[in-house]
Amino acid sequence: TNARGSELIDSDGQHYLDFLGGAGTLNYGHNHPRLKRAVIDYLQKDGVLHGLDMHTEAKERFMTTFRDLILEPRGLDYKMQFTGPTGTNAVEAAMKLARKITGRHDIISFTNAFHGMTLGAVAATGNSHHRGGAGVPLSGTTFMPYSGYFGSETDTIAYMERLIEDPSSGVDLPAAMILETVQGEGGVNVASRAWLQRLAELCRRNKILLIVDDIQVGCGRTGSFFSFEGYDIEPDIVTLSKSLGGIGLPMALVLMKPELDQWKPGEHNGTFRGNNLAFVAATEALESFWGDKRFEEEIREKGAILRQRLQWIKADNPELKAQVRGRGMIYGIDFEDATFAGDLVQKCYERKLIIENCGPKGRVLKFLGPLTTTVEQLNDGLDRLVEAVAELVAERASAKSLAESR
Ligand code: PLP
Repeated sequence: TNARGSELIDSDGQHYLDFLGGAGTLNYGHNHPRLKRAVIDYLQKDGVLHGLDMHTEAKERFMTTFRDLILEPRGLDYKMQFTGPTGTNAVEAAMKLARKITGRHDIISFTNAFHGMTLGAVAATGNSHHRGGAGVPLSGTTFMPYSGYFGSETDTIAYMERLIEDPSSGVDLPAAMILETVQGEGGVNVASRAWLQRLAELCRRNKILLIVDDIQVGCGRTGSFFSFEGYDIEPDIVTLSKSLGGIGLPMALVLMKPELDQWKPGEHNGTFRGNNLAFVAATEALESFWGDKRFEEEIREKGAILRQRLQWIKADNPELKAQVRGRGMIYGIDFEDATFAGDLVQKCYERKLIIENCGPKGRVLKFLGPLTTTVEQLNDGLDRLVEAVAELVAERASAKSLAESR
């Protein structure tokens, strides 16, 4: 019934630690006092709540703050488009814009990608369960292997390069490539720096637009505001949503290089493009966390603890053949046994730790807790995870020996 920071409290007063963070929406935790104050003050003074896509003071403040605290210090020049407030709507806008600008229809997406549930975005999503919900043939996308998909020995960029640059390969020249630099839903797959840089270069050479979907791993998740910072790539289009709204309020943004703004008025329309309460919370979040480098340093420090402790779980349980992957404060442990992560979610829940699994067949346990989680809470949650792993390993071992003795 209540939620504060990294804690959820149920109707019996029981406290749960939240390592799921609203699936990436609560990077600043539940009901952060400063963000909550800003929202309450805005409501109290009867601020405009719904403004279609029109000018409001709240919108202007967000745009100015985003420019001053995020874009300018990073030397980025993007125009902002506010779409309908879900991530999938921002992805639709990005894909439509790329097709409109280039006059090409195909978009390259990647194995294990997740971009949303509306028809355009789900066509760029790998998971067959989600694709199956569409009810119509999904079209307009071609899937290519993500960084490391075939293991470290296979050069997937060389493979793509050949297919794209050979006019007889059967692969049409795409309008764009859309990717997550760390695949969130797809199992915490981390693209290598070299892979991203070579991909960006391949796009540039062939006039293919590069769309980075930072909906889950943007807003600080990987240790910097954008997940691609420090990689020497500059995407043509970036999508943001989830934690952008600061306190869990729906909001989505498409950033595009200025020359790409070729929309006609209202061409990607939507009633809820101006969620002013979300603008207020978002502005406060930018001012509270992104005015200096401290928050980024904190994320990296806590991320290092997370990585270290997950590595220990792996080392202490070699029979699980686990892999630890991640960056900043998104981490996954991939278990060879596809049912292990799912059972572990349950064991964690019994210890009042909320965490989810993701990836192919749900094999990967994923940390996505608020970035504001304290070191103490982080260690507390990880202690619970260690216990849950030990219990599950013991249970599995005794079930196995029982089966063998029969
Ligand atoms: N893109 C990415 C990378 C996501 O992780 C998600 C949601 O998990 C989406 C797009 C879709 O966002 P929404 O669920 O708000 O439509």
